[in-house]
Amino acid sequence: MSETKRIAVIPGDGIGKEVTPEGVKVLEAACAVSGRKLAFTHFDWGADRFLKDGTTLPPEAPQMLQRDFDAILFGAVGDPRVPSNQHAADILLGLRFKLDLYVNARPCVLFDRRLTPLRDRGEQDVDFIVFRENTEGAYAGVGGNFKQGTPDEVAVQEDVNTRKGVERIIRYALDYARRKGLKRVCMSDKSNAMTYAHGLWQRVWKELREEYKEIETRHLYVDTLVMEMVRDPTQFEVIVTCNMFGDIASDLGAQLSGGLGLAPSGNIHPGKVSLFEPVHGSAPNIAGKNVANPMGSALTGAMMLDYLGLEREAALICDAVCAAVREGKTTPDLGGQMGTREVGAWLSERIVKSGLAGAGA
Ligand code: ATP
Repeated sequence: MSETKRIAVIPGDGIGKEVTPEGVKVLEAACAVSGRKLAFTHFDWGADRFLKDGTTLPPEAPQMLQRDFDAILFGAVGDPRVPSNQHAADILLGLRFKLDLYVNARPCVLFDRRLTPLRDRGEQDVDFIVFRENTEGAYAGVGGNFKQGTPDEVAVQEDVNTRKGVERIIRYALDYARRKGLKRVCMSDKSNAMTYAHGLWQRVWKELREEYKEIETRHLYVDTLVMEMVRDPTQFEVIVTCNMFGDIASDLGAQLSGGLGLAPSGNIHPGKVSLFEPVHGSAPNIAGKNVANPMGSALTGAMMLDYLGLEREAALICDAVCAAVREGKTTPDLGGQMGTREVGAWLSERIVKSGLAGAGA
């Protein structure tokens, strides 16, 4: 019938190994309804494999993923048995950098007003997406220590901003708004203090926004941005910012919309293989207990489908998660009493039911 999408699945460690299989089940249910085909291939990169034979990210992996797959569904990496976290850095940061996944996309959507810590705010009030630059800034690893361990110690961490890097993330955000028919894009930096690095963001922003006259563009310093996100989140549809500010603003956004258990993300390079992962980590404290919330993985799967052009299937997943939250069919982090596998099964069943009902309508 239709082209099969090839998905690489990397569950990783901890709760990544529990929530990812549920994400896969939910994806299978959504595609079964429409007859679209997904072919999953599982990779065992993570702490178990590292402790067994020293493998982290095999050298040929980035090229192989690029060649043989349409997208990557990722769980989480991090394990107390590997205190250096070397395997996690090699796998996740390795993929982000080697696949040049320069867009970190984090939607913040409130499914139920009971989940937001904001007083008197409802579902219609929190619905925006943060685009975080994902390959440079303070995370580029440029810097060093001098006279370490002495009273005269010096520590330097450079904030690396290239014109190419700044331009492509801002353009991605503006193009996204145009594609989705959104009206408002806010760019955030700290150019009043970081005059060189974020002066570049200012110049690129002013140039590019001229090409998107139909979009209402706005700039906020990052301190004002986070205040305004809390004071009145309805102002925002698309936020674009640098690596570090995006990390902070998107975690704030995750809390405004229900917390870590629900938050999805995408690491994207348009037109190339991209990686989708829940925002949460491997959460060793709750791993292996069947209590981790699989909704972050399910919504991550929805984001991946949307990216692959399967919007209808993605919407089925989002609707099912929304229904589960409203009906209290959740894990304990959202106040429910169900297990990881039970929530996954409930979501899959709901998707099939509503998909069939939709087809019959
Ligand atoms: P990392 O450094 O990889 O981000 P972390 O331990 O700092 O990992 P997370 O693993 O993301 O942070 O989670 C922090 C806490 O939030 C966990 O210890 C857990 O209690 C809770 N948590 C995270 N994800 C989930 C989830 N899917 N379901 C339920 N609780 C979760």
